[in-house]
Amino acid sequence: MAEEKNMENSGGLGATGNFIHSYIQDDLKGELNKIHTRFPPEPNGYLHIGHAKSICLNFGLANLYGGKCNLRFDDTNPTKEDVEYVDSIQEDVKWLGFDWEDRLYYASSYFEQYYEVAVKLIKEGKAFVCELTPEEMREYRGTLSTPGKESPYRNRSVEENLDLFERMKKGEFPDGSKTLRAKIDMASPNINMRDPVIYRISHSTHHTTGNEWCIYPMYDFAHPLEDAIEGITHSICTMEFEDHRPLYDWVVKEAGYTLNPPRQIEFARLGMTNTVMSKRKLRALVEDGLVDGWDDPRMPTISGLRRRGYTPEAIRDFCERIGVSKANSVVDSGLLDYCIRDDLKAKANVVMAVLDPLKLIITNYPEGQTEMMELENNPENPDAGTRQVPFTKELYIEREDFMEEPVKKFFRLAPGKEVRLKGAYFVTCTDFVKDTDGNVTEVHCTYDPETRSGSGFEGRKVKGTLHWVSATEHVKATARLYDYMMLDNPDDPNGEMIMNPNSLEAKECIIEPSIKGAKKGDRFQFMRNGYFIVDTKDTTEEHLVFNRIVPLKSSFKLK
Ligand code: ATP
Ligand code: MG
Repeated sequence: MAEEKNMENSGGLGATGNFIHSYIQDDLKGELNKIHTRFPPEPNGYLHIGHAKSICLNFGLANLYGGKCNLRFDDTNPTKEDVEYVDSIQEDVKWLGFDWEDRLYYASSYFEQYYEVAVKLIKEGKAFVCELTPEEMREYRGTLSTPGKESPYRNRSVEENLDLFERMKKGEFPDGSKTLRAKIDMASPNINMRDPVIYRISHSTHHTTGNEWCIYPMYDFAHPLEDAIEGITHSICTMEFEDHRPLYDWVVKEAGYTLNPPRQIEFARLGMTNTVMSKRKLRALVEDGLVDGWDDPRMPTISGLRRRGYTPEAIRDFCERIGVSKANSVVDSGLLDYCIRDDLKAKANVVMAVLDPLKLIITNYPEGQTEMMELENNPENPDAGTRQVPFTKELYIEREDFMEEPVKKFFRLAPGKEVRLKGAYFVTCTDFVKDTDGNVTEVHCTYDPETRSGSGFEGRKVKGTLHWVSATEHVKATARLYDYMMLDNPDDPNGEMIMNPNSLEAKECIIEPSIKGAKKGDRFQFMRNGYFIVDTKDTTEEHLVFNRIVPLKSSFKLK
């Protein structure tokens, strides 16, 4: 019962469980009382949907097992980090629905502690200052099949090491001239254990500590210490760190954290079709001006997905559905679309909007007359109520809803054919007008007053129902239709994708008047055309700009 209750705010991590659950459940049967996880982004870019998977997992596990989850900025790398990213990451984690409460930490606030552990290692003869150049270091490292060679600096005295390390810290040596290395085992089959570098010299300004430090710990040294200092019990990371786990454990142990030491667990990174996920590649798209910033609605960033109109619920649902495993796989982007449709179908009210207008004139309808038609706001949700939509002699319908010479199974409008105008009347096409280029510019119909919607008319049936908007009473707006951001690039030897040249199409569209007063961030279903959101950036007082979140239908099938 208690477990069931906790599950509700597990943040998208279902009861199905996975290998991480079994590890945690086993650990909780032993000496551990509470679990403590962390989400540790490096503030060198905006978060993306892959990070969302990690966020849902870490915060979700903490919620599920009554533990805690820290938000920690892994900011031990001075040159690539920026406060812009620190701010955006916090906004995105909150927006996804997770709360670190008072546990916001910076790895850079432990610089003194890493330094002390390094000094302790030197004193115990477990670290040394090395002067091999990067090329020499590579040469000495050996390969997967051959052991490495010991550095000629490996057997310096403790005193000499202490002195040199202190002088490294004081800034006496140029970048790259010396490193501090852990003294482990140059013959280890695991290359990460072959005397790894744990400190490097970098005379650069750090976003929180400024110029206080000119030596910086390496990730493999800092990360286990960050976890240990914060009392993290399960340090969940992606598969590429699997081979680093022995070093992680070595650092934790040598630093003296022996009671409930953090345990590193790896899972497979999320990859998705038709998109790129690494921050480096996303940054390149932004810097090359190929997208409208990190929050371009095509981007897989959390801020891009938010602007596109995705909801936190849909993203959490997606993360739950993809599950967690050790095997790398690429998820069909259609699954995310499925999740947002599923979330919006009861939430988003329906309006009629015509994206590609074709004029329809009802020749026997009184000139100047307006009838208010009552339409349901959301057939999926009876509580959503109804609205009034003005019906007039001249309307717009979707261009694709008329065919001069209808193909088989085309049940929409064509000469001589009758269709229903949603919530209004049956109309029959009598003729149409073309311009000199042969494009249809106007369709003429007659309507049958008997068939008014809601009148109980049962005389005959029609197969097609069209959405429409009054040609005289409507709102004009911009609708941006998106396609996937990236395309496969079969000729590229590295499998790098290329930007989809048709990923954005902007159209001037015509919407029923009830859309007046829509606010930035409001979501609607444009009947038959998909789910749309009022863009938060480009919408002005005078002009609404809509982003299509997702079309209504797709070929994607849920497995
Ligand atoms: P990128 O390669 O996109 O820069 P990263 O791993 O360097 O990603 P970090 O800021 O270091 O990004 O990541 C923070 C956390 O998010 C890490 O624990 C990392 O494992 C996790 N993470 C990053 N990308 C993914 C992904 N595609 N799928 C799942 N987890 C991810
Ligand atoms: Mg990284």
